[in-house]
Amino acid sequence: MALMIVEACTACDACEPVCPNEAISVGDPMYIIDPFKCTECVGADDEPQCMLVCPAECIIPNPDFVESEEELQAKYDAMN
Ligand code: SF4
Ligand code: SF4
Repeated sequence: MALMIVEACTACDACEPVCPNEAISVGDPMYIIDPFKCTECVGADDEPQCMLVCPAECIIPNPDFVESEEELQAKYDAMN
């Protein structure tokens, strides 16, 4: 499933540059993940890169975008 950013986000900008899908953008006040671009890093990396770098631990699964590994790979392939 896609990931999402919740209220604890401090807008530190650590996550935006590491996303391989350019799915993260600057929001007000929180950063935003585009669920149609986020693949949980499937296709590009072994684990979600944004979660690795986020100091606020405010990136969680988006319950409105439940997707299998195969669906995430297909989403990645369609973008590349
Ligand atoms: S999990 Fe990966 S693809 Fe999704 S927003 Fe984070 S860095 Fe980008
Ligand atoms: S790394 Fe975490 S705290 Fe920093 S902007 Fe991204 S979601 Fe917000």
